[in-house]
Amino acid sequence: MKKLINDPLRVVDDMLQGVVLADQRLALLEGENIVVRRDFHTLKADCKVSLISGGGAGHEPAHGGYVGSGMLTAAVAGPVFTSPSVDAVLSAIMTVAGPGSVLLIVKNYTGDRLNFGLAAEIARAAGVDVDMLVVGDDVALDDDGGRVGRRGIAGTVFIHKVAGAAAEAGLSLKQVKAEAQRAAAGLFSMGLALGACTVPAAGKPGFTLADDEVEYGLGIHGESGVRRGHVQRAGEMVRVLLERIVEQGDLKAGERIALMVNNLGGTAVQELDIVAGEALSGFASRGLNVEAVMVGTFLTALEMPGCSLSVMRIDDSMLARLHAPTDAGAWPGMSTPALDVARVPAVATAENHSTQGTEWAQPNAQVLRRVLQAISRALQDNEEVLTELDSVVGDGDIGISLARGARAIDEALDTLALDRPGVALQQLSAVLRRVLGGTSGPLYAVFVLRAGVRLSAHAEPDSIAAWAEAFQAGCDGMARLGGASAGDRTMLDALIPAAADLARQTSDASALEAATQVAIAAEFGAESTRNMLASKGRSSYLGNRALGHIDPGAFAVTVWARAVASAFES
Ligand code: ADP
Ligand code: MG
Repeated sequence: MKKLINDPLRVVDDMLQGVVLADQRLALLEGENIVVRRDFHTLKADCKVSLISGGGAGHEPAHGGYVGSGMLTAAVAGPVFTSPSVDAVLSAIMTVAGPGSVLLIVKNYTGDRLNFGLAAEIARAAGVDVDMLVVGDDVALDDDGGRVGRRGIAGTVFIHKVAGAAAEAGLSLKQVKAEAQRAAAGLFSMGLALGACTVPAAGKPGFTLADDEVEYGLGIHGESGVRRGHVQRAGEMVRVLLERIVEQGDLKAGERIALMVNNLGGTAVQELDIVAGEALSGFASRGLNVEAVMVGTFLTALEMPGCSLSVMRIDDSMLARLHAPTDAGAWPGMSTPALDVARVPAVATAENHSTQGTEWAQPNAQVLRRVLQAISRALQDNEEVLTELDSVVGDGDIGISLARGARAIDEALDTLALDRPGVALQQLSAVLRRVLGGTSGPLYAVFVLRAGVRLSAHAEPDSIAAWAEAFQAGCDGMARLGGASAGDRTMLDALIPAAADLARQTSDASALEAATQVAIAAEFGAESTRNMLASKGRSSYLGNRALGHIDPGAFAVTVWARAVASAFES
């Protein structure tokens, strides 16, 4: 187990300290793991209904994050995944209870029902007007109408909001409960997990899933779910949740709903957004009108990778409750979804390269085509090697980037003005600029652009001297844009000696001889980066840990320089 904790047994205490330190509108009840609104006294004075929720910890930001005006008055946290004690709940009730009464909102688990239930009973006997609402929104398990009923999961946050807004509006306990109950009756959730989570005190995961397995319909306590399946495309997995929700909720085309796409704790935001897109189009295709949506981390099972969908039937008044203001830190507000992806026309980028450039003989165009093809093939063949090198000293993407650039060269080949090499290079620069990205993207784009401009203006584009000038102009452009110079451990350490070597070639050297010499110079240069400290690019974060490793960008130069030479062999 690897966690950012101080002590497995003090996780909840430490966590609540953080919550309350980070927001001066909150306070802890003395001696308890209970978060309260600091201003709960004014609420009492206004005779408004106080709302208390809670349960085992491990569902953060639930429930402390929902304490604030317009939502909860207090949140009672038990140990991780364990219901808080009767006395803790009672202490919360007795502290916040005023003339305006108290509503407890409880997720349906036996432990929570009993502890909150008994606390309510004791408080009632002491003369406090308190009532309790149990939320069961998980439709994964068949609702046999039987003894335990549906579990309460993420949808409960909607109930906090509806009840909180109703209480804030000054409604009576009876009215607040009635609204919350009506909301809960139309609330349906289901989740899926791609892995388990580890309770700090237990030290190991509650269940295990194989690499290719997904668990549908799990609870939020690290317990396993209803059934396992194979991991599929996100759209397919979302469909499983969606169909069950629609079926169990008896949701019919034309109905109005609010949607919550919830991260169970360990899901990347980008995956959650993919899930949201699939869910929104899935509901839309079934004729359901999603009028409000929120996507984020609302009720978790520690660091579990996975998500849940919660759907609530709404009408105008319920929608207004969802949109009512609250200052609870974890409620982001709901947005109104769009029916289609809105697209704004993009302004076409101006291609400023000139199409005027010195022409050369047709056979040269064929040679240039062969050279570009060889470069492309070599970069693709070396994708893995480059990835490995960049994984050591960078972020591992250079192989992928350059292979993407290589494929783009192949695709663009027939559109390039190969009869005017300077123009072709400028066109190539525009292609690379669009597809390469990263650091090497703009650097290669400027290298090729500058070389192309120089070559366009040259009277003899088929001479070694012209290419030497172009190569040097490319290096200068790159150094200027990137701010690196020789010795900084970048691709320039391969390019600069290569350019110098090309400039030394005499006019009677063959293209093959010249290119071979240039490739050798690039290789020498690249090798020398092993002993250099990086001062530019990502490797500079590594300091002397990069020593001994060849710079990936410099190695990439040797890959294509060798390919150029090999193209002249044929
Ligand atoms: P990143 O992932 O860091 O954005 P890439 O993986 O696309 O960049 O490229 C990394 C390579 O870029 C490095 O190995 C280095 O050779 C080269 N590089 C980094 N900074 C510069 C610079 N300022 N000038 C020239 N080359 C650079
Ligand atoms: Mg990189």
